[in-house]
Amino acid sequence: MPSLDHPYAGADRSPRWLRGNLHTHTTRSDGRRAPQEVIDDYVARGYDFLMFSDHDTYAGPEHFADWKTGGLSMIPGNEITRDGPHMLHVGATRKIEPSEDRQAVIDDIARTGGFAVVNHPNWFEDFNHCPHETMKEWTNFTGIEIYNHVIGELPGSSYATDHWDRLLARGRRVWGFANDDSHQAKHVGFAWNSVLSEDRSPAAIVAAMAKGRFYASTGVAIGSIAVEGMTITITSPDAERIVAIADHGARIEVADGREMTLTVPDGKTTYVRFECCGRGERVAWTQPFFVDRAGAA
Ligand SMILES: [Zn+2]
Ligand SMILES: [Zn+2]
Repeated sequence: MPSLDHPYAGADRSPRWLRGNLHTHTTRSDGRRAPQEVIDDYVARGYDFLMFSDHDTYAGPEHFADWKTGGLSMIPGNEITRDGPHMLHVGATRKIEPSEDRQAVIDDIARTGGFAVVNHPNWFEDFNHCPHETMKEWTNFTGIEIYNHVIGELPGSSYATDHWDRLLARGRRVWGFANDDSHQAKHVGFAWNSVLSEDRSPAAIVAAMAKGRFYASTGVAIGSIAVEGMTITITSPDAERIVAIADHGARIEVADGREMTLTVPDGKTTYVRFECCGRGERVAWTQPFFVDRAGAA
């Protein structure tokens, strides 16, 4: 019998999600506001964790000691920027030098701690900041930004589920992230990741995200996620519609309301993921549920 391989064990009974943004700029690179002011803003909005991703500028515990973090778990990291497509280094232990050979950068990140997330692939006039042909060849990265808020003000698209569905259909295990990419006050609070973490420590939050134990959101919450055999039930208190999406972006089921129960169809399905759509353009994206046919009759 096929089974579902998914990251949401324990999310069926009132899970506690920790909310955070991994893509944040300050005056340490091209952000308009000083780190303390940015931290205070996210604290006031009730965030649980935050990562400073200044361009090629590492922020870690030795820097966090200079700021009042108000209970925010600060994730060490930076945004690899120079000489190629941008990527987040999440859970960094030190700065990785950017190099044109981005596969070498990704491998360095994996070797020295943390993980890589490909940023805003559909930025630029031709929607090709990171072309799919390039991304498809890379291995060893953990995720892509399926939503980057600030790109909405620029040519291209904030969204990148098109790349995600193509990677997932090839059997790639890649998680979807949503981030503000805030450079000034007006960019804060639009996109985040809600994580099922063992505790509030940065290490636990990074480890949970590496395993895909989170969902990405632009303003919709997910209540619970329950899996029994090949059947998945998603509840979302603010959803007006829930859509189930499978290989290459195929919409296999749509339910108007706050709950969907889906039995993954027999056949060639590689994965299923869910989009919970709320008011305006707000969405919550689950991570994929992979169909595991090992041992299937
Ligand atoms: Zn960038
Ligand atoms: Zn950025």
